[in-house]
Amino acid sequence: MTIKYFSFDVECAATGPGHNDREACSVSLVDFDGKTLFSTAINIESTILSPLTPITGMTEDDIKKGISFDDAKEKLVSFLGPNAVVVGQSIGNDLAYMKLTQGIDYHSAIDIAEGFQIRNKKYNNFDHFSLAKEVYAAYGVVMHVAGHTHDPDEDARYSIRLYRDYLHGSKKRNSPQTRALRRKMQLHNWQKTWPEELSTPWAGVEGVCSFKFNPSKCRCGQPCIYENGLMTHDEWEERRVARELANAEI
Ligand SMILES: [Zn+2]
Repeated sequence: MTIKYFSFDVECAATGPGHNDREACSVSLVDFDGKTLFSTAINIESTILSPLTPITGMTEDDIKKGISFDDAKEKLVSFLGPNAVVVGQSIGNDLAYMKLTQGIDYHSAIDIAEGFQIRNKKYNNFDHFSLAKEVYAAYGVVMHVAGHTHDPDEDARYSIRLYRDYLHGSKKRNSPQTRALRRKMQLHNWQKTWPEELSTPWAGVEGVCSFKFNPSKCRCGQPCIYENGLMTHDEWEERRVARELANAEI
């Protein structure tokens, strides 16, 4: 069995105000060399609350001109299959958005965010970096800059390039070059030397919650992904108050 490596990236539009109300509106697939194999807009049958143009680079019209979700999935799977290893930044999200099944549609997945993570001793967890930060540290390129034309292949191409250059195989993963890149990103964090475009959080789109990973800011009520579990804003707030009370008693 020959294992083949791919990366793909899915963009999503908002079908409701909650941070989980998302449906795939485009997908791009690249091979191990970063060559684009397939890239398409995907039509969303349900009502679109916002095309999230600043992220997706698409208007509602662009989305409505896309092929059906089932056709997009079928085409994607025709390239992948049970020998495919899919690589990407937080690739679990993309796999879920395309409703792909491990063992049938693909063999396994590699999250490059985990490959570049750094142990945070203070909090006994891991610090993760965004794809844009990884790309900046590795290649000196600032991605996703507001006002630049969005390139739907960009994420997939950079993901597979980072994987190829820094993470492919256990030797590379722990090589001096890869350790140096992790160290460089850690220093950017400590010295606050990331370019401003990469440190400023995205302001979001009016009326759509974009805080899937931030229960302190989420107001839509849907559970957020937090500390390897799920937590709603109310639960986060309860915990914050409990901690404050506990501290006050001391
Ligand atoms: Zn939310």
